[in-house]
Amino acid sequence: MAIGGNSNSNVTRSAAPAVLGGRAAFSEPVYITRPLIPEEAEFQARLRAIFASHWLTNDGPMVRALEAALQTQLGVAHCKVLCNGTTALQVALRALDLEGEVITTPFTFPATVHAIEWNGLTPVFCDVDPETYNLDVAHAAALAGAATCALVPVHVFGNPCDGAGIAALAARRGLKVVYDAAHVYGVEQDGEAVCQWGDLSVLSFHATKLFHTCEGGAIIAAEPGLVERIALLRNFGIVSHAEVRGVGLNGKLSELHAAVGLGVLAAVDGEIRARAQLVGRYRELLEDVPGLRMQKWSPATKRNHAYFTLEVDEREFGMSRDVLHDALRAENIFVRRYFHPLCSENESYRNLASARPQNLPNATRLARRILCLPLHGGIGLADVERIAERVTLLQSRAPEVRRAIETSA
Ligand SMILES: *Cc1c(COP(=O)(O)O)cnc(C)c1O
Repeated sequence: MAIGGNSNSNVTRSAAPAVLGGRAAFSEPVYITRPLIPEEAEFQARLRAIFASHWLTNDGPMVRALEAALQTQLGVAHCKVLCNGTTALQVALRALDLEGEVITTPFTFPATVHAIEWNGLTPVFCDVDPETYNLDVAHAAALAGAATCALVPVHVFGNPCDGAGIAALAARRGLKVVYDAAHVYGVEQDGEAVCQWGDLSVLSFHATKLFHTCEGGAIIAAEPGLVERIALLRNFGIVSHAEVRGVGLNGKLSELHAAVGLGVLAAVDGEIRARAQLVGRYRELLEDVPGLRMQKWSPATKRNHAYFTLEVDEREFGMSRDVLHDALRAENIFVRRYFHPLCSENESYRNLASARPQNLPNATRLARRILCLPLHGGIGLADVERIAERVTLLQSRAPEVRRAIETSA
């Protein structure tokens, strides 16, 4: 049954959970994700080519090949790669010459908000939809004022935002839109790449992301003038030996990182197919468990299965997300609380008026409830079945599990 490695199970049906004295479901940790690795011979050949050329960075042939390959693969006109997703966000915001307030979501990775702050802009936190977990466009419209210059929505867990609603709001109020598209590699809506929405979209190619270059990121832009600004900004603003334009930075991706990306690119479609199978099994086994809910997706979305998340309703499920988290960790199942704490709870932002939890009821609830389960091609269907079996077993003994975790805390 297993399509991947992990066959290190100890489990027997209806054994006791580890927190109640049973053996852990897995003898080795099952991690939340596992980076794709380039095929070795192909990678060696690329390394030899780099070393033979002595061209290690500065818009070299590997970076150009990666940009061209990504443009083809994603079906976008222009893709500029950078050294990481956070720098790419900073450069994207800088390229639009913004001033004032930027409406964004607190239910995201800290980099989204940090990039706004690093540009001298003021983040304004907007609540999210309780089912898609993405920016609540009606709330964003209510928050938009004279000082608002842009929206930075996030396609959280690869689920496309309400793109039409966001575009309409931006048009009505004259706002720029920069999507944090870190999770959305390969995702399509009605047959169109989601990472080309907005004025700019920013991808992360960190090793934990579905497609990666170890460290890396990219900006997708449609307008040629913006593409040119981004190319300048990522290279100090250097136009020529005689001219530097604008306050640039060093956002370049090295040839070695680009070579990793070209290798990973060849493996990513297979990974998405493997994950799709695992997600299908997770859903079958967990969708009827009382107190567990799943993120809402449009049927028009072609998904990338970057993440598999559950929303845990403490009352119905019998224990909180945090108790379930601890009990699964005891089984050697490395689940994660994405995104907890909320960015609006960060000490740098919590004094903003928009950061008050009463303004962000859905995000506040989701930060307490969402749990991310292991999902990558290195695990198989048997592993997913074992993980789901542990979740249901834990629930069936919820009061004891809760007591065990609470007394050990
Ligand atoms: C990973 C991530 C980033 C940051 O990307 P890096 O490449 O790690 O700098 C930004 N936003 C979101 C939503 C992310 O998940």
